[in-house]
Amino acid sequence: MNRVLIIGAGGVGRVVAFKCAQNADIFGEVTLASRTKSKCDVIAKDLPRNIRTETVDADNVTELTALIREVQPNLVINVALPYQDLTIMDACIETGVNYLDTANYEHPDEAKFCYGPQWEYHDRFQKAGIMALLGSGFDPGVTNVYVARAKKHHFDRMDTVDIIDCNAGDHGYPFATNFNPEINIREVSAKGRFFENGGWQETEPLSVKKVFDFPEGIGPKDIYLLYHEEMESLIKHFPEVRRMRFWMTFGQSYLTHLKALENVGMTRIDPVMYEGKEIIPLQFLKKLLPDPASLGPRTVGKTCIGCRICGEKDGRQKTYFIYNVCDHQTCYRETGAQAVSYTTGVPAAAGAAMILQDIWHGTGVFNMEQFDPDPFLRLVAQWGLPWIESFPDTGEI
Ligand code: NDP
Repeated sequence: MNRVLIIGAGGVGRVVAFKCAQNADIFGEVTLASRTKSKCDVIAKDLPRNIRTETVDADNVTELTALIREVQPNLVINVALPYQDLTIMDACIETGVNYLDTANYEHPDEAKFCYGPQWEYHDRFQKAGIMALLGSGFDPGVTNVYVARAKKHHFDRMDTVDIIDCNAGDHGYPFATNFNPEINIREVSAKGRFFENGGWQETEPLSVKKVFDFPEGIGPKDIYLLYHEEMESLIKHFPEVRRMRFWMTFGQSYLTHLKALENVGMTRIDPVMYEGKEIIPLQFLKKLLPDPASLGPRTVGKTCIGCRICGEKDGRQKTYFIYNVCDHQTCYRETGAQAVSYTTGVPAAAGAAMILQDIWHGTGVFNMEQFDPDPFLRLVAQWGLPWIESFPDTGEI
């Protein structure tokens, strides 16, 4: 019987726990551990079957190793924060257990993320005879697999890839983030970056904007160019792509608040002395903002995330758009979480199922696009996130 250890009891951890509890044939025994055990217990109470809950400080390799030895899982699903990726990977190597996450490593003191530090673990994972699957959320995650599907079924050569992430949900607050506020604001306030003709081009934060007409009644929305981690691995694994960009929608209220918070220094991540105590302004701001896990009941509307790809098939130019549309309230009714947590947690559980059922296998550190996209997308669709394909007439977005 398979055993899994989920680390992190936020919005994403809740959805992963639900999918594991709903699928006992794949996830025999489930343990949910986090820094605050009471949050695990709240989730456990809502699940369709019993799971075990534990406390763990995932910054501490010794604590992690002890817990893994006690639980003896086949796989650790890391849905804590990106700061904990390396400590959890260390503990997995020490105990010989497979690893999966949804976001690449970030150092708490530097708002910069890249796969380098995790790819460096490849040889050690290989030597330990275990596998790490990186970025098994939606973006990164399903978006990587969409590109792999495009290459497998629709293109001889892919020229341009635009990944587009729209959250057209409304939670009724003037300002709140849909996942961890600290990680979200660090990502959005960083410089934009895209790949073109063999190199990375940098742009000022949120300075490049277009309007994209989203399907399924969502309609036209402003999209802004951002750097996003899946581009780094996709460019590595599909070097034929000439240009790759990532876009995200933001409402005017979000942007106005973000600008004001930046202007007064509330998004800073360096320590500031306040009444004799060091505080990090962004961490203090996180304390004041609504907990993303609490947005579920209030959020209405849809998300739409997909990849628009131009290239050549059988000597002809072709444009392909593959996407998912997810409704916040439908997700909430099933799991008690809104669609941003749902679209991350379902692929994390599906990636875990690929490993546990030996459908995706190998030793070392892998990104999602390195495996057969078909079984993963079939399972993600069966578990609530179907894909839709269209073939637009025009190439450029
Ligand atoms: P939350 O902030 O809601 O939850 C994080 C959880 O991790 C909390 O339970 C927190 O505990 C726990 N945690 C934090 N630090 C530690 C630690 N040192 N030891 C043990 N537990 C810890 O985040 P989300 O659920 O919104 O996001 C989870 C992950 O998913 C993040 O890494 C995020 O970047 C990623 N993500 C990926 C997406 C994708 O599509 N690929 C999209 C959205 C998110 P406590 O409550 O005690 O602080």
